Amino acid sequence: MSEDRADSSSADGGPGEDVFTYNGGRVDPGESANIRYGISETYLGDPVRIPVTVINGTHPGPTVFLSAAAHGDELNGIEVVREVAHDWNHADLHGTLICLPVMNVPGFLAQERYLPIYDRDLNRSFPGREDSTSARRMAHRIFTNFIEPCDLGIDFHTSTRGRTNMLHVRANIDDADVERLAKAFSSNVIIAGQGPSGTLRREATDAGVPTITVEMGEAHRFQRQLIDRSLTGVASVLAEFGLHPDSSVHWPGWRVIIDDAGEKTWLRADAGGIVDMKHSSGDLVREGETICAITNPFKEEDVIVTVEAPFTGLLVGVLENPVVYPGNPLCHLVKLDDTILHALEREIERQDPFLETLE
Ligand SMILES: [Zn+2]
Repeated sequence: MSEDRADSSSADGGPGEDVFTYNGGRVDPGESANIRYGISETYLGDPVRIPVTVINGTHPGPTVFLSAAAHGDELNGIEVVREVAHDWNHADLHGTLICLPVMNVPGFLAQERYLPIYDRDLNRSFPGREDSTSARRMAHRIFTNFIEPCDLGIDFHTSTRGRTNMLHVRANIDDADVERLAKAFSSNVIIAGQGPSGTLRREATDAGVPTITVEMGEAHRFQRQLIDRSLTGVASVLAEFGLHPDSSVHWPGWRVIIDDAGEKTWLRADAGGIVDMKHSSGDLVREGETICAITNPFKEEDVIVTVEAPFTGLLVGVLENPVVYPGNPLCHLVKLDDTILHALEREIERQDPFLETLE
């Protein structure tokens, strides 16, 4: 459906072709609408409604969705989507933007990752089903109305509570359209892979809507540097796909693409205790360098376990909550080839504020 729509849009065809329609409404070219769209009902029988902003440009072009808070406590993306929807000037928009800043409204209200109803993960419930669990019914209403009609999409996430990560894109770059989208977002790090079944990006991509996930920082926070970096990425994507034809595509300076199954490594604790983390996410660590130490409340010398980098790499994520059982993840280390390593070293020399302040 995506290509059909893009083709008909650019064909400058008959009236009505660039109207955006959803169950119960329409948004005409040159118009925008703030919609509260019902996806479920509470125990009191009141509607559970998600905020949706549709901006239909005066000119034809692709339809793009921007979504956030599929996990209710992941806030950075909400601000990215809100600023695009309400602070940017779309007078010359070629195409349509579907902005979904808070998909998991029950989780958002409770400030929890999952849907509070039986702790369901909305981001494992796509594309959803009308006659299934509550989570799948919600997913179905979002997917059929606001995802399937799009040509491409970006879904914003943060790390799970207790951990943080540097801004990166996750994308199935075996799909050429997804690869184009992932590169256009202009992040330094892309983790390749199709993602778990039921995630919005995998199911949307499988349904013909190339979609990437953007991971940025930690839950329960607005992190301005990361939000600004993501806004640059969105602007770059809108330029690449012609929605803002007068803007230019951003190039991040250096980029590393990591195979999901390959060279990234989660280092796990081999001892229980309290973690004294020596690094932040975004740090470059050298082979043999101490990443953290696992200690206990008595700080007895003989029980302190140090964890060293098995190779030189980039710390994409580190735990924030400093307590571990044996087997718990400590950090996510990505191996870098020499070219990327030199680019990263130059970046650090220039004291990129992003790398400096990300903690
Ligand atoms: Zn998430």
